[in-house]
Amino acid sequence: MKAPESFPWGSEKRYNAFSFYQRNIYGQRVQKVTVDAGFTCPNRDGSVARGGCIYCNNESFNPGYNDARKSITQQILEGIEFLERRYKAHKFIVYFQPYSNTYASLDTLKRYYEEALSAHPDIVGLTIGTRPDCVDTSKIAYLEELADQYDVTIEYGLESISDATLKKINRGHDVQAYVNALEMTCDRGIKICTHMIFGFPWEDESLWLESADWLSRQPFDFLKVHQLHVVKNTALAALYKKEPFEMLTPEVYLDIIVRFLERLDPRIVIQRLFGEAPPDTLIAPHWNMRNYILLERLDELLEQKNTWQGKHFK
Ligand code: SF4
Repeated sequence: MKAPESFPWGSEKRYNAFSFYQRNIYGQRVQKVTVDAGFTCPNRDGSVARGGCIYCNNESFNPGYNDARKSITQQILEGIEFLERRYKAHKFIVYFQPYSNTYASLDTLKRYYEEALSAHPDIVGLTIGTRPDCVDTSKIAYLEELADQYDVTIEYGLESISDATLKKINRGHDVQAYVNALEMTCDRGIKICTHMIFGFPWEDESLWLESADWLSRQPFDFLKVHQLHVVKNTALAALYKKEPFEMLTPEVYLDIIVRFLERLDPRIVIQRLFGEAPPDTLIAPHWNMRNYILLERLDELLEQKNTWQGKHFK
């Protein structure tokens, strides 16, 4: 099959990249500024389970300016100063990232989110990372109101479309909980992002490729995928130490991502395809490759194979 003259998302990129999507809306780069509002997680404090997901160590993705002891405003101002210097960004979305950022009373959430939105004049919206079992109709109705004025995204961690995996990794919810959260959230002006992880040693590529078909049928906007990381101070690290398992190599992972993208609905915007964990917390795998290199390799592979997102979407 010949590549189309232009892809449905309007860029030459062979997948529907978030950077292009945002430039189309804002005409410029929009940078996420993360905050740690001091939330916890029902999968850690005993409400759902104790110990959390077996791979979870929130320290492995917190930037230096995040510290829940500082106010939300202070974290945002420090973050913006850094991002302006580093990326010359002039518009920002506040990203409530660590733990479950809807896990509090509605009044508390309103206070935090509204403080974030008024912390700096160049803030255009919020992204809120959470679990699918951590929202209810009143929280979603409030986010719908905010989405009238701001760019609001809610990120739901799903991680696998297999209930058996969700059980093994101690997610504390099943796939149906994710489907229920999507039903509650979709068609209300709130954008929805889904998280997936590829590489659990008991899963295989047939399941990851099947995920593309299954995800394509769900009503969400953005997708984040990353390779499994084993990081320190997690149950997965203890399992790995006891019985080291095989992890994906960059070559195998890239090949899976190419075939996954081919089957994925072209309307889904790709926010992330590779993860990075700080070297001092990472146990495995050691790819020693920055994300931008992996993204370049992905572009080359898509070109060489003359393929693109949605080429085999049914
Ligand atoms: S739901 Fe998120 S924050 Fe909670 S334990 Fe799992 S990965 Fe960690």
